[in-house]
Amino acid sequence: MKGALLRRFIVAAAATLAVLLVGGPAQAAPAPGAPGIGDPYFPDYGNGGYDVSHYDIRVRYYPDTDRLTGTTTILARATQDLNRFNLDFILPTQSVRVNGWSASFVREGDHELVVTPPRVINRNQLMTIVVQYDGIPSDYVAAGYTAWTRTDDGALAIGQPEISWWWYPSNDHPLDKATWDVSVLVPDGVEVLSNGVMPRAPRPELVGWTRWSWRSLRPGQTYMPFLAIGQYEIVQDVAPNGQQVINAYSLNLGDYADPARASIERTAEVVDWESGILGPYPFEAQGGVVVAPNTIGFALENQTRSTYAAEFFRRGSDPYVVVHENGHQWFGDSVSLENWDDIWLHEGFATYMEWLWSEYTGEGTAQEVFDFTYQFYAPTNPFWNVKPGDPGPANIFHIAVYDRGAMAIHQMRLAMGDDAFFETLRTWVASRKYGNGNIAQFQALAEQISGVDLDAVFTTWLYTAGKPALPASASASAKAAPSAAARTAAEPKSWAKLRALHDQLAASKS
Ligand SMILES: [Zn+2]
Repeated sequence: MKGALLRRFIVAAAATLAVLLVGGPAQAAPAPGAPGIGDPYFPDYGNGGYDVSHYDIRVRYYPDTDRLTGTTTILARATQDLNRFNLDFILPTQSVRVNGWSASFVREGDHELVVTPPRVINRNQLMTIVVQYDGIPSDYVAAGYTAWTRTDDGALAIGQPEISWWWYPSNDHPLDKATWDVSVLVPDGVEVLSNGVMPRAPRPELVGWTRWSWRSLRPGQTYMPFLAIGQYEIVQDVAPNGQQVINAYSLNLGDYADPARASIERTAEVVDWESGILGPYPFEAQGGVVVAPNTIGFALENQTRSTYAAEFFRRGSDPYVVVHENGHQWFGDSVSLENWDDIWLHEGFATYMEWLWSEYTGEGTAQEVFDFTYQFYAPTNPFWNVKPGDPGPANIFHIAVYDRGAMAIHQMRLAMGDDAFFETLRTWVASRKYGNGNIAQFQALAEQISGVDLDAVFTTWLYTAGKPALPASASASAKAAPSAAARTAAEPKSWAKLRALHDQLAASKS
């Protein structure tokens, strides 16, 4: 002990000396962590002052009353000397402990839980934050709505950007990625679906209750963890790459059941095909969950296991929605936006994977889909007022981010050539795996690989309102016509399906 104390004294003395020698300021006083991470669209989303590495989410759910009780343990590291920090969370909280010490806490604003630990946390110090809570998630409104969905037989925690606030405390922004475990105690006979792998089979705990355990081994964003609690049929298999596939279907799908299965059971095939274009699948498991009709209405790219509203299958099977959500596993989940104004890096590319699937399955080439999409939106359509590169916080899921976003990607591809284009996609997802990126960085990479100045393409298609004129070389079919404006594009076979899909995706959130 003496030796340790002495060494500590010497280190402290040396640090003081170093400060004196360089004439710098004394160490800054401990300060509160920022209440937001600095996102231009959502300034109070996420927090400053610490960086999370893991969430252990352990809850009990009562389907009869929608009561959720539990404990989330957060492993983090301070990024500054902290005397206070925020979590994003809205459920009634019983206690917060930081490194074992009981901390005081208070709710502030829309969704902030302000935590004051009794001891200052030093920069780089490890923090173990344990939050106990008990509440009815469907009772709470934040960001103007309730993202938690209670269903006839359980509940759904599925949403973007907001969802974690209703069921686990977090640093809620894509910039702070972490791994997570989800463990849920439910009445016997109720199923619980979540991300990743099941480290153990569901097992009885207490009389009449069963614990379900899920584990996500790769870092993800805080809107990735999901819950689907209710009556589900679970289908397990092994993918061509050897990974576990777990799909699940609400028992309340009715007429949607068969077309849903005919779509979702192609997940491993779709992932295999996308791996051939984008490089190895970045996660540890695959699958999809189809939830009951009249619940969420959208689909979401939850890491390893996307979730789908039953309504996507009302016109029959739809592999395009499976292509879209699994395309996000690379563009969106593994490589995530830096700020929410970079949403094009998620939705534009997931949509472009649909165009490539259309070509692959003989339902219209990407060029044909581009031509018809371009023609479909008249110059006077307000669609053209939304800039995919900066749509504004109210429009991050506007259909222009999808359709004009994919058109922008196609123009970029034509300007670069196929070799440089596909190399750019693979390099982007490989070099930023489990990280983040912004549109300027994507443009820089594309220019570096292609040697082509893409400023005009990006400015025109992502950042300028109004319908862009087509460059003479933009359309292969334009060469045969007197001008791009004068020709009429034929409707690709995939068009009706893409149209219906995008109307549903963009109308809600995905
Ligand atoms: Zn999407």
